[in-house]
Amino acid sequence: MNLEIKKEAEYCLHCKNKPCSNIGCPLNINIPEFIEKIKEENYKGAADILYQTTVLPAICGRVCPHYKQCMGPCVRGIKGNPVNIGKLETFAGDWALENNYQIKKENIEKQKRIAIIGGGPAGLTAAAFLAMKGHNVTIYEKYDNLGGLLIYGIPDFRLPKEVVQNQINLILNLGIDVKYNMQLGKNLYINDLEREYDNVILAFGANNSAKMNIDGEDLEGVFGGNELLEYNLHPDYKGKVVVVNGGGNVAMDTARIVKNLGAEKVIVTYRRSRDEMPAESKEIESAMNEGVEFLFQNNIVKIIGEKNVEKVELIKTKLIKKEGETRPSPVNIENSNYTIDADYVVMAIGSVPANEAKELGLECTKYGYIKVDEKGMTSNPKIYAIGDLANNKSTIAWAARSGRNVAKEINNEVT
Ligand code: SF4
Repeated sequence: MNLEIKKEAEYCLHCKNKPCSNIGCPLNINIPEFIEKIKEENYKGAADILYQTTVLPAICGRVCPHYKQCMGPCVRGIKGNPVNIGKLETFAGDWALENNYQIKKENIEKQKRIAIIGGGPAGLTAAAFLAMKGHNVTIYEKYDNLGGLLIYGIPDFRLPKEVVQNQINLILNLGIDVKYNMQLGKNLYINDLEREYDNVILAFGANNSAKMNIDGEDLEGVFGGNELLEYNLHPDYKGKVVVVNGGGNVAMDTARIVKNLGAEKVIVTYRRSRDEMPAESKEIESAMNEGVEFLFQNNIVKIIGEKNVEKVELIKTKLIKKEGETRPSPVNIENSNYTIDADYVVMAIGSVPANEAKELGLECTKYGYIKVDEKGMTSNPKIYAIGDLANNKSTIAWAARSGRNVAKEINNEVT
């Protein structure tokens, strides 16, 4: 028995209207029920409840922005601390990984053949929920390992690779086939998959760093945060000043990694205030504790240098809340420009899909995301798109939700 966990579980009020689950959790996990099972020390029962709605509990328990999701509306949070739902989900998720837990599988008569391109959180979730229903699922993965951003987009100090691998193994035990080192346009073609499978699900993410389109962005020494995390191609940062532009978790992760790799100074620039930063508060604090500096309400307007980055020009901003807006907009303060010395700049202001998305002959948005209807279906009724590629809110739980929804949709077509 784990006393600390039991105490945390007992702190839950088992609210009838479950705001944590109904308002907070994108996956609508039955939070009070799985907590109740932990309270009863019935850990398998807790895992059974979790796996009804998620196949990533050991991952979401660790890296979901809990205060912005399930813990935000927790009734306990009104007068004190909310229930630490992330910790309890991690506990039950880890219990399942350590105790050879197997996800229940059904057998259906009208089995479909489904190809999923991309083995990140959305693709893995869709694969699992289809395989649970007895469908025949093959994942086509670009790399020689599954996980997508769970492996290369989140550093080990936030999400140990071993946990991801064990979670993937548990999912694959459902009998999902995986074909590794398969990349669209290189050795994998959508037309072939369309012929061979009943449905194709696109789940290869949107992992190109968005650009600001400012002067100097093409200088040597300007990197995209996503690409730095994905390819791990870091320069030697020793004695260097690195400016990281952005306020989300990619900005925090890259800033901390760069600092840990020996940069003399790492400065995060963000055009709004700390309160509006999309990154989790604990990640911002960790970055600060590790010596990362922050320039809030500062926007990059130009990167200066001959061939390499030499300076960054910034402008100060004021925040103005316009009618109908949920958060204030930053407005540049005239004549407040100034420059700081810098050796490298990391752009971490958001992500857009790779060009391969536009080359599939499907309707796309002006930003390159694949257009889908409310069912996740693209302009080709045989093809679905999920996760970041279809512009779902870019958290793991939202990506997983889109994968689960499409799996349900495809399954409904045959039952
Ligand atoms: Fe428990 Fe908080 Fe959910 Fe109520 S809102 S059931 S206290 S986790």
